[in-house]
Amino acid sequence: MKLLIMGPPGAGKGTQSEKIIEDYNLISISTGDMFRESYRKQESLGLLAMEFIRDGLLVSDEITNEIIRRRLFAKNAEKDFLLDGYPRTLNQAYDLDNILEIMDSKLDAAIKILLDDEVIIGRMSGRRVCSICGATFHIQHKPSKKDKICDQCGGVLYQREDDKEESVLNRLSIYHEKTKPLVAYYKERNILFEVNGNQAFDDVYQEVKAVIEAVR
Ligand code: AMP
Repeated sequence: MKLLIMGPPGAGKGTQSEKIIEDYNLISISTGDMFRESYRKQESLGLLAMEFIRDGLLVSDEITNEIIRRRLFAKNAEKDFLLDGYPRTLNQAYDLDNILEIMDSKLDAAIKILLDDEVIIGRMSGRRVCSICGATFHIQHKPSKKDKICDQCGGVLYQREDDKEESVLNRLSIYHEKTKPLVAYYKERNILFEVNGNQAFDDVYQEVKAVIEAVR
């Protein structure tokens, strides 16, 4: 089974992915993680990618396609996987299809988590993180007992740079511009499945699971 999970930043893709991987024994392939790993190793691809990431831009299709080709044509490529954060542009989707064709395989489902921008902005801009233990809070939905102080370790809470409203708006606008055409692309090929992201984690997951069971 080869799956892809997509959705706007802040829609809970990461947490849903973790659960899918665990329950269905899939390998996670996340280009974001691959770029960070490559940067940690100070490889040239990672260093190049980080220049885009730092500026809040999508990494170029050329670099992204290169890193994914290396990954898919190497270890574990024959196994079932879940793509997370890739493809993000039509060009990347075309390249992925070419790679899968060479592997004599195909994508079984593109699962899209739907969530309105206003909800995302509310969720992300209200998030606060502990500067010591990393615990997360939300000024409305999960406030700390003492203002700006972590319940767990007493550390000071802060707002991550990429959770600030301006940054969230920027990432959402890139998402809409570049990633939306993918939706039409996968719809046309009858492998697009949309789930409602505006509900509790477990309820979103039940919808995700129903899709996976249907294509398995
Ligand atoms: P993520 O961890 O998926 O949020 O990715 C972190 C950053 O890496 C993104 O904000 C992009 O700058 C870059 N990135 C990750 N995946 C891709 C992709 N498929 N295409 C272009 N840029 C990507």
